[in-house]
Amino acid sequence: MLHIKTFTFNPFQENTYLVYDDQGEAVLIDPGCHTGQERAELEGFITSQNLKLHHLLNTHCHIDHVLGNAWAKKRFGIPLLIHKNELPVLKSVEVYAPNYGFSGYESSEADDFLEEGQVFTIGLESMKIIFVPGHAPGHLVFYHEQSGQCIAGDTLFRGSIGRTDLPGGNHTLLLAKIKSELFSLPDETIIYPGHGPETTIGYEKIYNPFVGERAIQ
Ligand SMILES: [Zn+2]
Repeated sequence: MLHIKTFTFNPFQENTYLVYDDQGEAVLIDPGCHTGQERAELEGFITSQNLKLHHLLNTHCHIDHVLGNAWAKKRFGIPLLIHKNELPVLKSVEVYAPNYGFSGYESSEADDFLEEGQVFTIGLESMKIIFVPGHAPGHLVFYHEQSGQCIAGDTLFRGSIGRTDLPGGNHTLLLAKIKSELFSLPDETIIYPGHGPETTIGYEKIYNPFVGERAIQ
């Protein structure tokens, strides 16, 4: 069984996810924890559940998703894996972090890359790597087929989609990729987005104002 624990961190209200199997083998996805209190909350859960962290993954590397990268790498001794197209996105955070008020931002380096179609193992479970660029050039989605759960980052939200006005964004591409890569998943698939509450593929197929049947084309 795959377990997903959600935390909401930083002023962007970003969702950080801990994903783990029945034995507590775990990965950390998009650690947005910035304050000592946020990091203590995350670490407290890891300790209380006796989780064994193996990897740090980023769906993409916008500031709100990577604020805790450097800390998590050091604190848990885990490597950071991203799509290679996110390298310049991660690098640019160092430049613009002070403008967003994060003067204490500590940069992090990727240790290895994830590729489209790859299957990523978390203990006894595995997740498929789906490539959904458009919000960011190397945006990845992590899909657990057996339980129908999907960590979707800033691609698809409940009633919305990721913004595409940031560097590397492409609105047309995002719409096309949501339709081809995400709407091909079963309707009951649960979407865990980078911001806001969970949703399902079936709900968004109908009601999403950008990509749903009722979207104004
Ligand atoms: Zn983003």
